[in-house]
Amino acid sequence: MHKRDLRDDDWNPVGGDPALNYGNTVEIDEGVVDVEWLHSYVDVVYFTVSSGLLAPDDADSLNDALRFASGAEHEQLFEQALHLRHTIRQIFAAHAQGEKPSPLDVVELGKWLAQAGQLRKLGLKDGDAQWIWRDQGNLLAPLYRIAWAAAELLTGDHVDQVRQCEAGDCDLLFVDVTRNHSRRWCSMDDCGNRAKARRHYERVKKKKQSAGSG
Ligand SMILES: [Zn+2]
Repeated sequence: MHKRDLRDDDWNPVGGDPALNYGNTVEIDEGVVDVEWLHSYVDVVYFTVSSGLLAPDDADSLNDALRFASGAEHEQLFEQALHLRHTIRQIFAAHAQGEKPSPLDVVELGKWLAQAGQLRKLGLKDGDAQWIWRDQGNLLAPLYRIAWAAAELLTGDHVDQVRQCEAGDCDLLFVDVTRNHSRRWCSMDDCGNRAKARRHYERVKKKKQSAGSG
């Protein structure tokens, strides 16, 4: 397993949606974890800030509170974060494969939303009505925000455009917003180029074979 750090430059959120990017913080190849980007709950907090789900000030006070949490609390929070990630991956991988999500996974996501919903209020900001989070200081706030983003994607217009990279050894999820829905790879620089190189190699090999047989 390759341990990677989200703060490194090579974290490339290809999902086009924060919920999918959260799911993409682990890369699994043939049932085995190949790359892991999350190593503690502090990493989860960092993810929510870098993806715009949590304001930096809220994250600072959360990180302050986390300094006083016990090792067992940290472990429990992290366990819940990974469980939510698994649920999100399952739901959207099913969608990418043209299947319905498992009811159990949807119920699991719904549990998060039931809690999160109590911490969102309709309020006014500069005279405009909008949702305002009241979860500041709540250690689970990052997970509420992620769960909410997942539910918005799941019930929104783009859910039918959720795809999984076509490379055999890559399971990254993304929203295909290309006009003709033709995106096949997580990123052109990575899996797209590898596929292109492979096609080129196979074409050359075929040519050589047919030249040899002729
Ligand atoms: Zn890929």
